[in-house]
Amino acid sequence: MDRHGRRVGHPLFTAPGPARLADLHRAMVIGRRFNQQAGTLARRGSLAVYPSSTGQEAAQVGGVLALSEQDWLFPSYRDSVALITRGVDPAQTLTLFRGDWHAGYDPRRHRCAPQCTPLATNASQAVGLTYAARREGRDVAALALMGDGATSGGDAREAYDFAAVWNAPVVFLVQNDHWATSVSPHRPAAPALDPGASGYGVKGYHVDGNDAAAVYAVVSRALAEARSGGGPAIVEAVTCRLDPHTGSGAYRDGAEVAYWTERDPLLRTEALLRAEGALGNDGEADRALAAFGADAERVAALVRERMAGEDGAARSTATAGPSTPPTERVRVVSPRPRVRSAGSPGTAPRPPVRGHPPRSLSTAELRREPRL
Ligand SMILES: [Mg+2]
Repeated sequence: MDRHGRRVGHPLFTAPGPARLADLHRAMVIGRRFNQQAGTLARRGSLAVYPSSTGQEAAQVGGVLALSEQDWLFPSYRDSVALITRGVDPAQTLTLFRGDWHAGYDPRRHRCAPQCTPLATNASQAVGLTYAARREGRDVAALALMGDGATSGGDAREAYDFAAVWNAPVVFLVQNDHWATSVSPHRPAAPALDPGASGYGVKGYHVDGNDAAAVYAVVSRALAEARSGGGPAIVEAVTCRLDPHTGSGAYRDGAEVAYWTERDPLLRTEALLRAEGALGNDGEADRALAAFGADAERVAALVRERMAGEDGAARSTATAGPSTPPTERVRVVSPRPRVRSAGSPGTAPRPPVRGHPPRSLSTAELRREPRL
């Protein structure tokens, strides 16, 4: 679709029908609300950190809904929306960010690997799983999610190489939001990521990552080709995360934010749904969209109930330990460099804990807001 949500189409790809388009939109509405709620929980201290994906819902939702039931998803730490779209309990998705458990869900049940924090290690795991499945005669493809920064890592390059050599049915979906943490897109020499795939014998696709229908169509084709022996692919979804890397720390200027806000994936899909009558007449569309919003509020309420204990203390069913605030748990287990000064060995102030949630609003202020 174009940036206003008008259908454009492409001869190589099959666009999703009305029902699938509605599925994509509903999942994005829920994903956006989930991001908002999880971010609030992090600011309250109920989560140690939350890496938001607000603005890039189309890439995650479009990719995940292209998977078949028997396929596997290999998410990174920023792909919680992908997980809940796959059917993982939203509260269980957040246990990693409470410091409760590495994966609060059963990976085999959902065919979702644990969220990986090291960059791109999930990519080679996706290759290994699909290679093993093929040797056992099972029809399993995988979708590995990465950010653009992760593609600079050796793990990503090794995964491309092994996938090509073994002809593994893997699609690497790169959500290129133009920034690797706070490093600008002007630093790398490559103009885009997907052409680099050819050097590894991997196909490359370049898609508008704020167009859920386009991502769905491209990933569906790439998965079908991979499954039929056509080889792995890298899909570069060009998008923009409107929230900071984690917590606070804005590094995009106003013009960049305005550019991407105009291309909000939810607004575009809603415009297309309404223009083509995919949800019925105007009144029926209003009711359907209101129902999507109500579903999203139910997810947010569930997450609040299961994740927001007093002072961030644990209340999730996955938690067996004492009521230790998540920020404290992460502080205790995270390795930190020792800082010593010449004058007073071992007594220098410790550096700030990485990932500690900033408190832009006070806890009291947040608790007065009934929706949070
Ligand atoms: Mg990035």
